[in-house]
Amino acid sequence: MPNNLNQYLNKQATQTLIQEHESFQFTCAKECWGTCCIKENVSLLQLSVYDVYKLLSKRTDLNIVNLIDIKIDEKTNLPKAFMKWKENGWCPNLMEDGSCKVYMDRPFTCRIFPLSSEFMINDSTGNISVNYKLRENLCYGFYKEASPKEQTLKAFLFTDDFQNHENLEKLEVSKREEWIKKYDLKKSTNQQLLNLSQTMYCLKEKITGKKDSFFDYYSEMLKIPKRSKRLEIFSPGELTKIALEEFVPRMLEKFKS
Ligand code: SF4
Ligand code: SF4
Repeated sequence: MPNNLNQYLNKQATQTLIQEHESFQFTCAKECWGTCCIKENVSLLQLSVYDVYKLLSKRTDLNIVNLIDIKIDEKTNLPKAFMKWKENGWCPNLMEDGSCKVYMDRPFTCRIFPLSSEFMINDSTGNISVNYKLRENLCYGFYKEASPKEQTLKAFLFTDDFQNHENLEKLEVSKREEWIKKYDLKKSTNQQLLNLSQTMYCLKEKITGKKDSFFDYYSEMLKIPKRSKRLEIFSPGELTKIALEEFVPRMLEKFKS
């Protein structure tokens, strides 16, 4: 990889709130070669439930343990997923030529880079809104050497799947907030937290190499009526909703009993 890009990585970049119609100068430059895709520069790359299901559906060549790290968040005791860096510090999706193997389905954080997002909940209505912040000069793509182009936030974020992606992120944020308020997860055993992680993220892995269907396995465990549809037919978005709206709440209720 080019080794002269560190001068462009201003990790102390100030974050400025940016509205849909506002514009900024940026381009993701080919010659940058995925500088934002290595542990040294990103440290932790958090993944939403939807990110995880999309990755699992695209990287069927990789075992989940080589793709995703699941940790229990110390504040909330809820599982959180992160990209599992390779031993050399690269993202497992970063190719030798610097391209991303899952580019069209890359995680939300990658999709909005070099912006950051902040999800906020309205305590009285429960509605979630999102603010985007520009981290100017965070990467090479802001500098004149990369020939940045002027674009509005709206144009930068626009893809067919973006609204769906943002809505599923909001759903996860609201669900996490609800669970924290409703359940005392501090009392959970390690086995319970492992089960919770599996119901939230690793459903597909559960049937890999097994004969029993995905829903048979969890439906029996959580006493949810069986579905006729098989896992392979569900989209990552559908799986995300099922995990967040059905399986995790049922699992949390099971902890209480
Ligand atoms: S987003 Fe920035 S750091 Fe990442 S590859 Fe593009 S220009 Fe480089
Ligand atoms: S998923 Fe793609 S864009 Fe995101 S860090 Fe990995 S290689 Fe980079």
